[in-house]
Amino acid sequence: MAIELGTKAHEGQLRYSGEPYIVHPLAVADILVEMGMDCDTVVAAILHDVLEDTQIDESEIRLKFGDSVLRLVQGVTKLASIHFSSKEQEQAENFRKMFVAMASDVRVVLIKLADRLHNMRTVASLPTQERRLRMAQETIEIYAPLASRLGISHIKQELEDLYLKTAKPTEFANLKRKFASKISSRKDIVNSIVDEINVMLTQQGLHAEVSGRPKHFYSIYKKMVGQQKDFDQIFDLTAIRIIVADVKDCYNVLGIVHHAWTPMPGRFKDYINLPKANNYQSLHTTVMTEYGMPFEIQIRTLDMHKVAEYGIAAHWKYKEKLNTKIDDKMGLLRQVVEANSDAQSSHEFFESFKKDFFADRIFVFTPQGDVVELPQGSTPVDFAYSVHSAVGNKCVGAKVNSKIVQLDAVLSTGDYVEIITQSNAKGPSRDWLRFVKSSQAKSKIRSFFKREMKEENILRGKEMLDVECRSRGISWANICLPKNIESVMVRQGINTLDDLYATVGYGGLTAVQIVAKLQELLREQTVPTEPKILKATTNKKLSGDAILIRGQSDLLVSLSKCCKPVPGDDIVGFISRGKGVAVHRISCPNLKGVEQYRLIEAEWNNNKDGGFVANIQIEAKNSDSLVVKISTIASENKLPIRHINLRQHKDTAIVVLGVQVNDAAQATQIISRIESLKEVRTVYRI
Ligand code: MN
Repeated sequence: MAIELGTKAHEGQLRYSGEPYIVHPLAVADILVEMGMDCDTVVAAILHDVLEDTQIDESEIRLKFGDSVLRLVQGVTKLASIHFSSKEQEQAENFRKMFVAMASDVRVVLIKLADRLHNMRTVASLPTQERRLRMAQETIEIYAPLASRLGISHIKQELEDLYLKTAKPTEFANLKRKFASKISSRKDIVNSIVDEINVMLTQQGLHAEVSGRPKHFYSIYKKMVGQQKDFDQIFDLTAIRIIVADVKDCYNVLGIVHHAWTPMPGRFKDYINLPKANNYQSLHTTVMTEYGMPFEIQIRTLDMHKVAEYGIAAHWKYKEKLNTKIDDKMGLLRQVVEANSDAQSSHEFFESFKKDFFADRIFVFTPQGDVVELPQGSTPVDFAYSVHSAVGNKCVGAKVNSKIVQLDAVLSTGDYVEIITQSNAKGPSRDWLRFVKSSQAKSKIRSFFKREMKEENILRGKEMLDVECRSRGISWANICLPKNIESVMVRQGINTLDDLYATVGYGGLTAVQIVAKLQELLREQTVPTEPKILKATTNKKLSGDAILIRGQSDLLVSLSKCCKPVPGDDIVGFISRGKGVAVHRISCPNLKGVEQYRLIEAEWNNNKDGGFVANIQIEAKNSDSLVVKISTIASENKLPIRHINLRQHKDTAIVVLGVQVNDAAQATQIISRIESLKEVRTVYRI
């Protein structure tokens, strides 16, 4: 009935070869019959082009052949509407995924593969070289890998060889010629090896089917290109295949073969224990023979062989139970071939195959015809961000299949999506975060807001830290020792001081956390008691030139090296052992916890001036001109520089500047000048 309908429908249509069109669907059906496919598949194959190319409509097919055949024909017709644009590898993979995603039934894919196989067998009759090449390219990028993924190796190999013949005719002809001469000279050798193996196995009481099989051209070609070898350097033109009764025998035969000939190192592969992704199972080994050339030997059971040749189609080809010993995780195919109910199990296999191929993904087209992969439920906004963050940020509307849609519309596989952008768009909306599905879009939208807000957050963060410090009676400048700040930043994975401020500003970290941690670090570095200063009870006396020390007249007075007091600072004397009095600033952390009887009141002699060094630490964004700018400020303030030291770490520069001042006011002045430099983050006296 199908042949009758098909012949009538295609009547008058001719193929490029000049034959009546019906020759093609019949040939496709023939390929599927050979594969052992069911009646519905074969009928659908005969009718696979009628919906697209003839007057026959769906209701006629449903009426004559039922829903199942109609769905198969519709599936094949739908796939015909995908036009592959051959670009990068990545695009090919996406097209393959889209192809599988659009096929509702694995039999649709099988019909499509058979259709492509016949079209490639007759590719020479296409009118232009350009069309022949396009067909060949599509075949090698989309269809051969698909056949491989479904485990249908005989179709995969034929498609690959047809590609080579069409796209690389010179290489193919050379290969064929060399191959033919070599094979005929090797025929005797192959036969001798097959005989030898047969004898050895019979002696051990093993039954096996041994054959020598030429490898297909494309695999040899790939080896020559991939390993940059000459044809003469490729040895395994023929594989010896040994098919045995069970898995135990596979390993027995392997032992016998390895005993007779020396295995080549690195060439043994156990695909029985570790099947390929398409469930291919076999033992592979290459041995050196007495004929001076290596041979590849493949050992497998009959069930494994059926799966190896027919893959997913083995289910239809071999209705009887196949008993392959596959690890359960890898055993999808086994479940298919062992199951009793046809349609159900192959459907399940196909569904899990699809999940494996792309877990809950959809595939949509760009206006240029590229395929974009997105998570299920994605919207035009997800699409826009997957193209480029700039497209996302400037997106103001979208069209799906040429119709304007809402930005939160859900896309489906096969949609053509076009984003409308406006160069003055004010950026994404926070609402978008509620409906986008891809993590890419989410993080790009978030980072847009983070970046926009950063300046604001830095200021807010600084202020929050300041307020927190003041509430504890301390100052930020005093607790933010570079070493401690750095350890806090490393712990939080923050790179720059600005980022730290910004993180506090937008609430990623609290000011309390940071201040408490810095105080804790500071406490760990000092002894935890506060100094108490002896009050002056007697007359102050002049000691040294610049500092008045209570009571004592003949003490050696020096300025401490650690906090470098200058006139105007609150100071205190520390009576050191045998070294007189060291004058510190009252806030100096080194005084915390010292014995209080050793502290002595001190004050500045206001009549004296000159010669004090203030050490100032500057933390800034790394810049080449930083030191120049700082030294310029010092000389503009007429403060001689005693030393200046620059340390750089990633994008941070830390400058320690020693300037000669008369009093603390001069130090404060230069600090505020330096603070106003745009790259400077913090400035404080050490
Ligand atoms: Mn066709």
